[in-house]
Amino acid sequence: MAHNLFAFDNSYARELEGCYAAGAAAQVPAPRMVKLNRGLAAELGLDAEALDSEAGAAIFAGNTVPDGAFVLAQAYAGHQFGHFVPQLGDGRALLLGEVIDVHGRRRDLHLKGSGRTAFSRGGDGKAGLGPVLREYLLGEAMHGLGIPTTRALAAVTTGERVVREVPLPGAVLTRVAASHIRVGTFQFFASRGDTERLRLLADYTMRRHYPGVTGYLGLLGAVIDAQASLLARWMHVGFIHGVMNTDNMAISGETIDYGPCAFLDGYKALTVFSSIDRGGRYAYGQQPEIALWNLARFAETLLPLIGGDVEAATAELQRFGDLYERYWERGMRAKLGLLTEEAGDAELARGLLQTMEAGGMDYTQTFRGLGRGVDVGAWGEKWRARLAREGATPEGRAEAMERVNPVYIARNHQVEAALAAATERADLGPFETLCEVLAAPFTERAGWEGYAAPAPGGNVGYKTFCGT
Ligand code: AMP
Ligand code: MG
Repeated sequence: MAHNLFAFDNSYARELEGCYAAGAAAQVPAPRMVKLNRGLAAELGLDAEALDSEAGAAIFAGNTVPDGAFVLAQAYAGHQFGHFVPQLGDGRALLLGEVIDVHGRRRDLHLKGSGRTAFSRGGDGKAGLGPVLREYLLGEAMHGLGIPTTRALAAVTTGERVVREVPLPGAVLTRVAASHIRVGTFQFFASRGDTERLRLLADYTMRRHYPGVTGYLGLLGAVIDAQASLLARWMHVGFIHGVMNTDNMAISGETIDYGPCAFLDGYKALTVFSSIDRGGRYAYGQQPEIALWNLARFAETLLPLIGGDVEAATAELQRFGDLYERYWERGMRAKLGLLTEEAGDAELARGLLQTMEAGGMDYTQTFRGLGRGVDVGAWGEKWRARLAREGATPEGRAEAMERVNPVYIARNHQVEAALAAATERADLGPFETLCEVLAAPFTERAGWEGYAAPAPGGNVGYKTFCGT
């Protein structure tokens, strides 16, 4: 048994009876630690030394239930590519419980790839090492960029092979989240007409995530604000989630469920990398609009709690556009090195995007290079004229810009190379290095030029897969 490694306090299990199914992880033959996130372990107040061990691997593989855990699969529904599925739920994941981190924040500890649950439908409940490491890397990349996100605490292999298009080494990811409450969690109860549980969930969510907010319309407004901010931040760094289904949208405002996600390289507003997104529903430039669509589904779930007041809910939803625009503009000003606000700034920012799209320019490199005189053609004249109306010194401005325009993003070819080395040759070196690079994306380091560069020959035809 693993004693007292985690000080669990399981409020979800305790307060939301009927919103989950108790579960148990599958036993696997040979748990082995691939990566323990020591920084995150420290933040959670855990003993990394004790966890980076055989006993730790057994816990993170699901073989040992740590003391104090209440293992459960959460119920949720969701709109997948626009089509409502009344029952999804944790089909390959289990919540172990919650811990309070060193900052006093409640965080879920959740296993992904731990075997079948009451919600598995036809699936095997397992995960492959490639997708597990992908989620690890992308979550750390987003965290390094300062964007709210779930994070990986550990990745372990199980000693099994999971059957996909090709057999993959089996793996389990331990995911840490502010919570795993999704728009789809609300949809599950709303679509069943279970207003009692819906109210329980809404009250719980407010206590946990938005304690200052009163009333269910207040909850809606707070989630709209959190999502508007999150979406603006995705757009600033060129992040494409890839599967913005309502079950992949966290009420906390964290980025969640890294499947076929990717970062833009050459700027193209309608970029799609995901192999399953054939209609381009979740293209880069569509994301804010899709977030609003998802929020409208969230608002619908709350109607029974607000006396069916569609007008009031609609009024809340109508705030999204302005909020998003405000967050987006604020971030874009910083990316362009602007200290003051002028009415034409958003247009100026959009002008740069058009220049990039026309010239097939790399999104990340262009912003990073701006302060050092990268060629941005005629647009550069307008930008310099705008800068001339401000007092900053060029050096001061360049420095400020480098604090918001990353050198390093999780570039697709680098991610693929790291995953291939790990899964095909059991070589974790490239994965480890990429983790290190992505942890400090704003600081240029000698020897890491390759990580800043776009894929040789571009990413033409590049596809990402869910790998579930
Ligand atoms: P996702 O693609 O991770 O957003 O998952 C969508 C839904 O499919 C969720 O209900 C998952 O639990 C379920 N799912 C995905 N992969 C599996 C699997 N291998 N076994 C069982 N359920 C799965
Ligand atoms: Mg999901």
